[in-house]
Amino acid sequence: MHLVTTYNNIQTSRQNFNFIFSNNEDKYEQWKHFYSLVPFLLYYAVLLSEALVSTFAKRPESVIDLVDMQRDFGFILYVGNSSYVNNNRNFMRVVSDIKRTLTLKCPKCSKSISFGIGNLKSFYQQLKIKCSHCKAVLQFKYTEYGATI
Ligand SMILES: [Zn+2]
Repeated sequence: MHLVTTYNNIQTSRQNFNFIFSNNEDKYEQWKHFYSLVPFLLYYAVLLSEALVSTFAKRPESVIDLVDMQRDFGFILYVGNSSYVNNNRNFMRVVSDIKRTLTLKCPKCSKSISFGIGNLKSFYQQLKIKCSHCKAVLQFKYTEYGATI
């Protein structure tokens, strides 16, 4: 495929034909673009696979899936730390959509727990979430049947 275009969103640089004439600066930009896009495609592929599997292998709604939550939180943290992605409105809209779906009520005070950077990192690294209202720390643990707090 020989894509050479002046279309704004995928415009090729001058003398760019299948990367043959790429200089070091061009190569850096191409790798940077690759590594900013591939995680989104892989994340989407995982979600798509899980949606397909869930059509014939349903999980009980009561089971909290920590692996799913860790993956989602890690993805949000990755996107938040990527300067290339941070400057892209479409990528940030995807992150906002994911964050909007995160809902958890504190078992101590029954108020909604917010998922700022601190809770995202804490959960991703240690499976802990802190309620900003009552300051309770919720420690999640893997069990044979899913997870517990
Ligand atoms: Zn609380």
